[in-house]
Amino acid sequence: MSNNTVSCAHCDAEVELSEAVVHDATAFCCEACRDEYNRGLQAEESGLVQEATVSTGRVDWQQLRMQKNTLINLAGSKHMTDEQVEHIEGLLNFLDTIQDAAAEQLGEDVVFCPYPGQEE
Ligand SMILES: [Zn+2]
Repeated sequence: MSNNTVSCAHCDAEVELSEAVVHDATAFCCEACRDEYNRGLQAEESGLVQEATVSTGRVDWQQLRMQKNTLINLAGSKHMTDEQVEHIEGLLNFLDTIQDAAAEQLGEDVVFCPYPGQEE
């Protein structure tokens, strides 16, 4: 790192000091992360972000794992923009959360692949 750049506190991007945003008293971040952070705050304040308890209904968990793999492959495609990749990663995180909650009820072997590397 040269004297003229700082590391983003969120994504570790190197940012020109002149373009860095002061995140708080101790950290800088890049404009993209700051925008993301502000978008999150605005969404919270506007009530757009809310927790919900949902029932999944009947799920073919093996099928869901394959569907997730398709998303992972799509995110790796060179045709995706950074924003599209972020959207897919958000969806994958969302699915992970659902799987984790389901695994607490149904067991890891039902929800997650009992034979890693063999199924997909
Ligand atoms: Zn950043």
